Amino acid sequence: MTENYDVIIIGSGAGGGTLAYDLASSGKRILLLERGDFLPRELENWDAKPVFVDGRYITKDTWFDRDGKQFQPQVHYFVGGATKLYGAALYRLRPQDFGEIKHTDGISPAWPLSYDDFEPWYSAAERLYQVHGNAGEDPTEGPHSEPYPWPAVSHEPRLQQISDDLAAGGYRPFHAPCGIMLNEADRPRSICIRCATCDGYPCLVHAKADAEVIAVRPLLGRPNVTLLTGAEVRRLETDDSGRTVTGVVVSRDGNREVYRGDIVAISAGAANSAKILLNSATDKHPNGLANGSDQVGRNYMFHNCKAVAALSKERNDTVFQKTLGINDFYFATKDYEYPMGNIQMVGKSNAEAMRGEQPQLTWFAPEWGLDDAARHSVDWWLTTEDLPVPENRVTTDKDGNVHLTVTMTNNEEADRLYGELKKILNHTGMAAHHVFRKNFYMNMAIPLAGCAHQAGTCRFGTDPATSVLDTNCKAHELDNLYVVDTSFFPSIGAVNPALTAIANALRVGDHLRQRMA
Ligand SMILES: Cc1cc2nc3c(=O)[nH]c(=O)nc-3n(C[C@H](O)[C@H](O)[C@H](O)COP(=O)(O)OP(=O)(O)OC[C@H]3O[C@@H](n4cnc5c(N)ncnc54)[C@H](O)[C@@H]3O)c2cc1C
Ligand code: SF4
Repeated sequence: MTENYDVIIIGSGAGGGTLAYDLASSGKRILLLERGDFLPRELENWDAKPVFVDGRYITKDTWFDRDGKQFQPQVHYFVGGATKLYGAALYRLRPQDFGEIKHTDGISPAWPLSYDDFEPWYSAAERLYQVHGNAGEDPTEGPHSEPYPWPAVSHEPRLQQISDDLAAGGYRPFHAPCGIMLNEADRPRSICIRCATCDGYPCLVHAKADAEVIAVRPLLGRPNVTLLTGAEVRRLETDDSGRTVTGVVVSRDGNREVYRGDIVAISAGAANSAKILLNSATDKHPNGLANGSDQVGRNYMFHNCKAVAALSKERNDTVFQKTLGINDFYFATKDYEYPMGNIQMVGKSNAEAMRGEQPQLTWFAPEWGLDDAARHSVDWWLTTEDLPVPENRVTTDKDGNVHLTVTMTNNEEADRLYGELKKILNHTGMAAHHVFRKNFYMNMAIPLAGCAHQAGTCRFGTDPATSVLDTNCKAHELDNLYVVDTSFFPSIGAVNPALTAIANALRVGDHLRQRMA
């Protein structure tokens, strides 16, 4: 193989897909390497059993925990990456998240750039991914240089009632920012039909603003963009100096192929990007590529989350539930000196997906079947920031497999947030004893496997001794290697990470355009 590309991008998710989209109009020759295929459009897309019970769209990959025990990670190898299944809650980090924040278990470190540096890219990301929201409602949100491109998705009656009850109780609920292509002013022409199978499901009608629909599909057929699916990058080769990536080694249809590009951008997801770099060790860089600092794979974060179903006597007939957010506990409060995190809604429970929770449901309401429980549940998602601890890390073994060692941080803050939710439920007619934790969103028995929000394994910074990437997300130690997925996060905040990955990809895209001009 001889062809030389201007840019090779590895991974087509939030980071890589968006970067490809951004660079395509430059006319540069781009190769997008994706290990998965297009996610099939099939009725199973919207069926809870195949999606949540059978894990139809989860990789068969095996990873290992700190004790060498195997588990199946909740990762998704498709064009569009994890965004094919995501809930499309597209939050900006708060301005304070870019600074240092004290937590019960340590410090969430400052980013080398500020909210103001990211703000224009957040606005551009919201435009591209058609984010619906009402700027100014969320009391912790930073300034917007432009309004959300679409009005917020409206609450259905039960959620509106909860929002009103919360406001009456002194809370400040807001409409959650959301990337679905719903046009409520013109429902007959709306691409999104507002259904109950969104968060955690692929969208059968391609109305979710995911990286495949928004970023990759519009590039198909462009003469300067080549997408190769089923192309798993195994390692990167360098020149003798070790400073330039000269070859991207791919396994495809059982064959070894090597591709060459002037610039290589990895965006395989935080764990897999670290895996590729660590598996690229040679005599020149025995600890792995770009890893003189020994930071590649370290500082793994994935949020300290809880999914909670609250059952009430009233029915909850909400179809699309992910419309409400509460950030009253995002920072320290007068009663607690540490941040607790974000509360939002998760996709509506349904009986099929709840099957694994049956014993607890029987305890709570023996007269109720699963259908009753699902009909009455209101479903919450609690996120507490976890810390970038060096010992929380991805390593690889001699066969190149991922090993994930994680000790959870900020459990006290997460438990406090759960306590605050229970108080909230009292204001909304759902007494605390009607609450149970639910696992089905993260269907796996091992919490480690719930790596939907993975980040941090190649953090950016100004000091090559303590970071892998510079502020343009270029590896300090290489001249032509970039990392543009959530690996670059020095800390993760307590809101969902995808919009920040998308905004950053647009920021890095701008830098690359200038570099290649
Ligand atoms: C069920 C679920 C719900 C979520 N909900 C939300 C939400 O509501 N809001 C939010 O902000 N975030 C959400 N997330 C997280 C969000 O999807 C991720 O943060 C985001 O997609 C990360 O972007 P990325 O570019 O780092 O990785 P990804 O989007 O995962 O992209 C990585 C890509 O690299 C490919 N790849 C991996 N290894 C290789 C290799 N060796 N060679 C070639 N290609 C490779 C993968 O197949 C994939 O396409 C959710 C995630 C899940 C799983
Ligand atoms: S709510 Fe809209 S975007 Fe989400 S799955 Fe349904 S149709 Fe698709």
